[in-house]
Amino acid sequence: MAKVTEKLEGMDVWLYHGQIYIPNTYSAGAVGSRFLIELRDNKKIMGTRCPICNLVYVPARSVCRDCFGELSEWVEVSQKGTLLTYTVTYQSNPVQPVSTPIVYGIVQLDGADTGFVHMLGEVDPEKLKAEMKVKAVFKAKKERQGSILDIKYFKPLA
Ligand SMILES: [Zn+2]
Repeated sequence: MAKVTEKLEGMDVWLYHGQIYIPNTYSAGAVGSRFLIELRDNKKIMGTRCPICNLVYVPARSVCRDCFGELSEWVEVSQKGTLLTYTVTYQSNPVQPVSTPIVYGIVQLDGADTGFVHMLGEVDPEKLKAEMKVKAVFKAKKERQGSILDIKYFKPLA
């Protein structure tokens, strides 16, 4: 059987430039949905623990990355944690929910063994430091929608 490149050899190439609108919906799945519902309804940050490795994953997930075991034990973790690393962007983007500069961080919440990616707020980007302690700031209950953005951001502890 001839390869595609062989079939196209000697043919003129036609290019058409256009755009396609593709609306879509993403399912968070059973574990992701429960995680988001706990944020929305109970203002709780939940993880799942591996019974073999004893690792607590936040956000919650269904399979352990190390042993591939099923994670069915749910644990609530603290809303406080440690900023592991961060970055600041000054580039605006229409899909971003906040104006620039946007500070993104990876936070390891107390009681969790993994990093949680989110935004930082109420902070001067120049004063950020890895290892600083931060705390989740939630939207008001009536504004929460079952989204990761029900947590507005993490702010440094005073
Ligand atoms: Zn495991």
